Amino acid sequence: MKNVIRLHDKTFRVMIPAAQIDSAVAAVAERINADYRDKQLPLFIGVLNGSFMFMSDLMKKIEFDCELSFVKLASYCGTCTTGDVRSLIGLNNSIEGRHVIIVEDIVDTGESIEHMVRDLESRKPASISVCTLFFKPASYSKTVPVEYRAMEIGNEFIVGYGLDYDQLGRNLKDVYVVTD
Ligand code: 5GP
Ligand code: MG
Repeated sequence: MKNVIRLHDKTFRVMIPAAQIDSAVAAVAERINADYRDKQLPLFIGVLNGSFMFMSDLMKKIEFDCELSFVKLASYCGTCTTGDVRSLIGLNNSIEGRHVIIVEDIVDTGESIEHMVRDLESRKPASISVCTLFFKPASYSKTVPVEYRAMEIGNEFIVGYGLDYDQLGRNLKDVYVVTD
């Protein structure tokens, strides 16, 4: 593991080594196993791109029958008068009556996850919960419950383990924090 890396114009130092991420993923998977093992075929919905590595490691620790799907929140501008409108793409099958677990890389202000939960709620699932690898409590300003938080961090910018800085860094197995 390199202690210091450079991505584009910024320097990052290692913050969370892979082994510590693995323990945090195991702990959150254990809670989900306990809460969902008696529920009818839960559906995990990962939000791309950031959640791909977390989703992969999390799923290997899930011990009940389940299904998995990925979605993307696409930003589009249109005439640019309505601000940032995001639509959920990739969800082709009905989720009506399903127990849904949303899998996110990071919840910061909560803007994205709130949008996602509202959209999914309108599709009448039996239940929705949110599982995020990282949660920034000092930044979160929404009321949507974020039930499963593998790790809580401060208001710092991190990369690695799926998270990017302008598309770089997603492949790193450790998590790094920006230093400048
Ligand atoms: P929110 O809508 O909760 O404010 O932000 C969620 C999105 O912002 C995440 O899905 C992620 O794309 C980006 N984000 C927020 N904090 C960080 C961070 O520390 N590192 C990276 N790489 N992305 C972040
Ligand atoms: Mg994300």
